[in-house]
Amino acid sequence: MRKPIIFGNWKMNKTNAQALEFVNGVDGFVTDKADFGVAPAYVALKDAKANAKDLIIAAQNVHFEANGAYTGEISVEMLKELGTEWVVLGHSERRQYFNETDADVQKKAAASIAAGITPIVCVGETLFEFEADKTERVVRKQVAGCLSGLDAEAVANLVIAYEPVWAIGTGKSATVEIAQNTCALVRDEVRNLFGDDIASRVRVQYGGSVNPSNIEEYMSQADVDGALIGGASLEVDSFKAIIDAIK
Ligand code: PEP
Repeated sequence: MRKPIIFGNWKMNKTNAQALEFVNGVDGFVTDKADFGVAPAYVALKDAKANAKDLIIAAQNVHFEANGAYTGEISVEMLKELGTEWVVLGHSERRQYFNETDADVQKKAAASIAAGITPIVCVGETLFEFEADKTERVVRKQVAGCLSGLDAEAVANLVIAYEPVWAIGTGKSATVEIAQNTCALVRDEVRNLFGDDIASRVRVQYGGSVNPSNIEEYMSQADVDGALIGGASLEVDSFKAIIDAIK
């Protein structure tokens, strides 16, 4: 009943011209088996959006304030003007390198939702937390911190990406059991906060070294509704193979 959702997170890769080349190479292959999208750098959003018919184009971040003295930041209004309808929030690289907190992510999500932009909210434990058996505590706290106070219906429509930090860009993907169990507990935390109906509708992605060969296994899990993909989303052929794998 939940439509699968597959997004590529390009991070600081691809110029505007390279992003355009990708969009033109992939857009015609997008099927209706899932919502497929990519998150280019800000500078590529306008042209990517103008050239994508079926591929969804997302931003990788946004500021929570409407405007003001925040050098280097981008507002929801600026994204809206480019036609952006989705935004990735709280990616672990933003948390690690730019000190983003759950409270920041919550404010960014609220600002995005108010502007009609749908967030993909990222959560996930570090290797240290994983090895200390703290995954459940960390992930529940992140989900609660990022979503509390948001409109329930908006939560049903957004996406939560569970991305164990130790599996991102490392080639060390989580086992399907870990992906399923943690996505299930993400959903359970949404249930605690917003009730059964919202929890049954919110889509939860797994992210961490997903590629064309392992995506089917993750997608076969009951609580895994999709994937957020870094490295394997950068090449046209690889992304097309991912599209093909979603039947
Ligand atoms: C990511 O950037 O969110 C990610 C999961 O990267 P990778 O697929 O390369 O591990």
